Formats: sequence, C-alpha cells, structure tokens
Amino acid sequence: MLFKEVSEYYQKLEDTTKRLELTDILRELISKLDSDDIDKVIYMTQGKLHPDWYGYPEIGMAEKTVLEVISATSGLPLEKVTVLLQETGDIGLAAEKALKNKIQQTIIQEFEPLTVQYVYNQLDKITRMTGKGSSEDKKRLFSGLLHRATPLEARYISRIVTGNLRLGIADMTIMDALSIALAGSKASREDIERSYNICSDLGLIAKNILLNGVEWLKTIKLKVGVPVRMMLAQRLSTIEEIFEKIGRCAVEYKYDGERFQIHKNGSEIKIFSRRLEAITDQYPDAVDIIKEYLKSDTCITEAECVAVDPDNGEILPFQQLMHRRRKYEVEEAVETYPVKLFFFDCLYNNGQQLVDKSYLERRSILEKIVNVDEKCDLATQIITDSVEEFEKFFHEAVSAGCEGVIAKSISEESFYQAGGRGWLWIKYKRDYRSELTDTLDLVVVGAYVGKGRRAGTYGTLLLACYDHVNDVFKTVARVGSGFKDEDLSYLSTTIKPLIIRSKHPRVESNLEPDFWILPKLVIEVKGAELTLSPVHTCAFSKIKNNVGLAIRFPRFTGRIRDDKSPEECTTEEEVIEMYNNQLKRIK
Ligand code: ATP
Repeated sequence: MLFKEVSEYYQKLEDTTKRLELTDILRELISKLDSDDIDKVIYMTQGKLHPDWYGYPEIGMAEKTVLEVISATSGLPLEKVTVLLQETGDIGLAAEKALKNKIQQTIIQEFEPLTVQYVYNQLDKITRMTGKGSSEDKKRLFSGLLHRATPLEARYISRIVTGNLRLGIADMTIMDALSIALAGSKASREDIERSYNICSDLGLIAKNILLNGVEWLKTIKLKVGVPVRMMLAQRLSTIEEIFEKIGRCAVEYKYDGERFQIHKNGSEIKIFSRRLEAITDQYPDAVDIIKEYLKSDTCITEAECVAVDPDNGEILPFQQLMHRRRKYEVEEAVETYPVKLFFFDCLYNNGQQLVDKSYLERRSILEKIVNVDEKCDLATQIITDSVEEFEKFFHEAVSAGCEGVIAKSISEESFYQAGGRGWLWIKYKRDYRSELTDTLDLVVVGAYVGKGRRAGTYGTLLLACYDHVNDVFKTVARVGSGFKDEDLSYLSTTIKPLIIRSKHPRVESNLEPDFWILPKLVIEVKGAELTLSPVHTCAFSKIKNNVGLAIRFPRFTGRIRDDKSPEECTTEEEVIEMYNNQLKRIK
C-alpha cells in the first residue's frame, strides 16, 4: 500500500471522536492491507514501530533536528518553521504547512510515491541508529523521506520520528476493527484478545490471521521471551466478603515493589515490567539472583521485586525502589538499593504450559524451582478458611512491610487469567478502615496553573478514571494536595510535552482546565471518601440522575504509576464498586 493512503486514513481517524466511526475507518484500512504491510500499519496506528517489549530504543529524534530538516526540505527559513511549530503546537502540522510551500510542490513530482514498506523500514533504521555520528545519519534518512513526502505524509512521518503519533486509538478499538475486517464479524474478537494476552503483539496477530485464517488464534501458545499480559486482582474490604466469594483460599503477602515477569531460557534472562516493557538492563542484580536461585532451565515465572535495607535486610517501601529508576545510575542503585525477589507464580516450566493449571499445581512447581535464600524467596503464604487466622496473617504482612495480602482461589479452575482482573485473586489492603479502601490510580487529563508558591508550575491536576466499555476517560477528581516540591518539578517536566490544544477525544469532562493533557500519565491518589458530584463525569447518571462520582479530599500519594498504561488505571466500574462498598460500611 502507498503511505499516502495510510495518511489519508489517519487524517480521517483524527477527524472523528466516536468510537464506532473510529472502528469503522480502521476496519476499512485493515481490510485493504496485505500481509507484508498489515503488521507495520498496526504498530504505527498504536503509535510505535514495534511492541514495547521488543526492547528497541524508542523513536524520538530531537525536535531541533527535525525542524532543520523541514526547513531544508521546504525551503522555508528555520525561523519560519519554528514559528509554525509555535503556532500549531504540533511538529506534524508544522511540517505539513511548511511543505505546502511552492518549492516543495515542484520537487515532489520527480519522485516515486512512498510505500508503507519503505517509510516503515527507513523509520525503523532511524530508530536503531546509535552511537557516534548517528545523529547525522538519522538526519540524512529523515531528510530522504521528507523530500519524497506529500505535505500530509510529512505530517505523520514527522510525528512518528519525534514519537508523537497521537491517533488516540486504544488496543480495544484495534482488536474490534481487526475482528470485523479479517474475520467478517465480532465473533473472533474474544479469540483475538485471548491471543493478545498471550503474545502481546497485535501486529503479529493481524499478520497471522491474514496468512493462516482465524483458526491460527486457537493454536497460539506461550513462548519464553514473549511476555504474557499479567493477571490482576480484584479488591474487597472485608475478610468475610472474600470468603463468601472464593471460600477456603490461599493468602499471600502483597509485597510493595515492582512486578517482574521473568523469562528464563538457559542463561538468557529477560525481565518484563507490568506494562510488558523489557526492564532487564535496569536490574543486573536481579538477573544475578535469577541465575543463581531459579533452578529450572526454561521457565516463565512472576515475582515481586522489593528494595531491601542493606543494613538489616528489611523490606523498604515502593518509593525507594522507584529511586532506582529516576535518580541513580544503575550501578550506583545496585549498591544503594539492593533488591530481593519474592516469587508468586509460574506460567511455564520446561516445555509445560501452566496457565491452565490450578493455583496449587503452579505453586507446587514454583516451590520446586526456586531456591530460597536471603535474596530470593517464595511469597509467604497460608491456606485458610478462618477469619481470625486471615486477620492475624494480614497484620503480620503489614508489620513485615507489605501493603496487605492477596487472597487466591484454590479451586480446580483457579487458572492464570492472562490480562484479566477477575475474582480468582482478591487484594485486601492495610488502610481499609481509616478512609477509602484503596488508593486509585488515575490518569492526568488536565491541569490548572499554579499560584503563589506554585507559580510557574501546576496548582491542580484534573484526573480521570477509565471507562473500559466505551474506551474513554471520565473525570473523578481535581487534586491539589500531597505534592512535594520535588514532585511538582518532576510532574511539570513530565506534563509539559503532553499538553494538547484541545480536549483529547477520549476524555469526557464537564470541566475546562487551563491546559488539556494527553491521557498518558497515571498517578496514585488517596481520598477520604467518594461522594455524588454534579461536576464529574465518572458514573454520570449511573447511580443517580445527572450526577457522577467524585473523590472527596483527594491527595497525591507521591507515587507515579509509570508501570501502568492509562487503560490500566482504576476503572469507572471499580469506582462505582468502591462507592457501593463504602455505602455498605456506613450502614
Ligand atoms: P495496586 O494498585 O494495588 O498496587 P495494581 O493495580 O498494580 O495494584 P493489582 O492487580 O491491583 O495491581 O494487584 C496485584 C499486584 O500486587 C501485582 O501486580 C503485583 O505487582 C503485586 N503483588 C505483590 N505481592 C503479590 C503476590 N503475592 N501475588 C500477586 N501479586 C502480588
């Protein structure tokens, strides 16, 4: 396919905000693609060139270089191109406008039109160029592309090279469109999602359906090295409710660290984060622990990685572990914040796929393959049906530095539900009595300018939860407290590049903040309670006509959830459930 055609579809996608229309436009695009192009177009539609877990460097040419190339290609002086960027606030629109320049129009006639293959391959080369002299090489390749691009193509190519292709399309919509385009109806949607949960690669799925038909979806198996989307937990606020739900169960400490999915193939180790990013390089010490204490040759396991106090081996709070990501060079971090791994699941072992085995079977395999030591352990666990025993264990967990516990079903069907937040795992946390049962992970969708001490940064953030049925973000709080100075400066720099000119199509809000923010950054918030609110769109008219739900006295906990994608934040459904639980407790 020509890249021109893809660009025209992208423009149509940008022009609509309705999910059904988005799906339909995407369906039409997908149905025109052949097996050489389909994976590439799917990745670009997701705003990337490869799934994140491939571990390739992110695309992201410096804006300055891109402006220079646009100027050279269009014949417009650099100052004018810079003004175009300031006016539009978007490198893509600036490139498009610049290339509408007359000189370019005459040059373009001489070139062959760009194909998807060519554009993708050149962009891929640009991404992978590293080291000395690479910036000149990148510039040369980008310039080659831009010389041959139409103004509309230039819009998307420039956005891609700067890592800014914001089509606002979620994986859910892509999966809907794939099913209708390639399988004729939504009938294969569930199989597509199941496969996605196992291989985390929509491009690969699309390509294989096209080549091998939808039957291929049924044959997909776990593969060591390819991350599995992680199983998540529901929450409840009383032990009685937990027993009502799953009966006699296993209860494990809920460690407060970073989740690891560990893929071991002989001496080759890969660690994936909760967002399925390859994070192996950040944790050389964890890799050593895995090599030494994980006995199986080939396996996929999960563990929580926790920072420990080097002086006494005690578990440290999550924030300490996050220091490793932000402030320190890896080597220094390994010294200052040593880690310990607590294994809690096993998905695959020496040729045997275990996701369809019960919790107890998986745990017993885990016990056989993990060598316990001071740097490596299994999640502390009991099996019980007694409220007293559960409660006592919970207090032990908290005093050992954990957030609480996770109750896990031990029924025959207690499988590993890849990508699911079902009732087989139920978390029960420390602060359930004092105020809201749980913290909420919310997406920043807007910001208000700060005053006084906060002048020059943001005073308040507008936060939203995720409505997974309609694939939109709905506001639920304005948070202005809990921010330390260092948080404010970190948030300021993180938020600035995410500012967009108008409300993002996937955000539903009745409020008008000073800045609209691209829904990307997830932060953790705590609140006193949930109240009915006429201003927020979360649960609007779902509990009572014309009012939604809001968090009362929200405050930032200090925790930025960069391990969560916006679609993984607290859902509207969960907020409603928290509200209902709160009502039950008040009664
Ligand atoms: P939260 O926001 O409460 O930290 P989350 O939304 O990141 O949780 P949940 O599904 O709510 O994810 O809780 C499960 C998380 O708890 C896992 O992702 C994992 O990181 C962590 N965890 C700690 N100990 C365990 C354990 N023993 N078993 C499973 N998960 C555990």
